[in-house]
Amino acid sequence: MLKVHQIPVLSDNYIYLLHDTDTEQTAVVDPAVAEPVLEALQSLDLSLNYILNTHHHSDHIGGNLKLKAATACQVVGAESDKKRIPLIDITLKEGDVFQLGSEAATIIETDGHTIGHIAFWFKNAEALFCGDTLFAMGCGRLFEGSAEQMWQSLNKLTALPTNTQIYCTHEYTEANGRFALTIEPKNADLKFRMQQVKAQRAQGLATVPFSLAEELATNPFLRAESSSSFAEIRTKKDNFNG
Ligand code: ZN
Ligand code: FE
Repeated sequence: MLKVHQIPVLSDNYIYLLHDTDTEQTAVVDPAVAEPVLEALQSLDLSLNYILNTHHHSDHIGGNLKLKAATACQVVGAESDKKRIPLIDITLKEGDVFQLGSEAATIIETDGHTIGHIAFWFKNAEALFCGDTLFAMGCGRLFEGSAEQMWQSLNKLTALPTNTQIYCTHEYTEANGRFALTIEPKNADLKFRMQQVKAQRAQGLATVPFSLAEELATNPFLRAESSSSFAEIRTKKDNFNG
């Protein structure tokens, strides 16, 4: 069984510690920093086998050097971005399967936020680690890829089972929701979700993970009808100050 421990770090990042309870194999997803991961490993009495990096941005790979030095773990990332993932050992591409003990993750290439971004889909555990591709009621900024590429990437994610739990790397939910309401002011599911999100955030609670079903009902980027209307929404979001 896959157990997921969520570690909030920096202003809005989440690091995930994954642990296969059958084999004790342990991985960390997108360690922005090392210390909170080392502390969590110690308190859970786990030793780190792998770092899984979704992409090369510093708030996703910042802990690689220290963690590898401290634990001798292996670094796992995209074949197509191996030059930018520090200390990479295992390179993966679309459709490859990464095995964390008895739990298998299928690799989904999700270019857009960066070129060489990947997501890890643990099918049996119904969990997706998608880095900065899909956020609650939002999606990643287009730093390197085109709107068309991001649209294709998001379409791969929306084809997954709707009960998939989505573990993205940032707590951007409330700001994303405010923008989403400007696109779909009459969406009842969206309005209801925003009420819940506001209440959760007021208590300092995480709004991540969330289900794909929830996203399909409330995320305007996923509800766009074509890549050109997606691109329009993405541009509006880039210019949104709310
Ligand atoms: Zn990023
Ligand atoms: Fe990020």
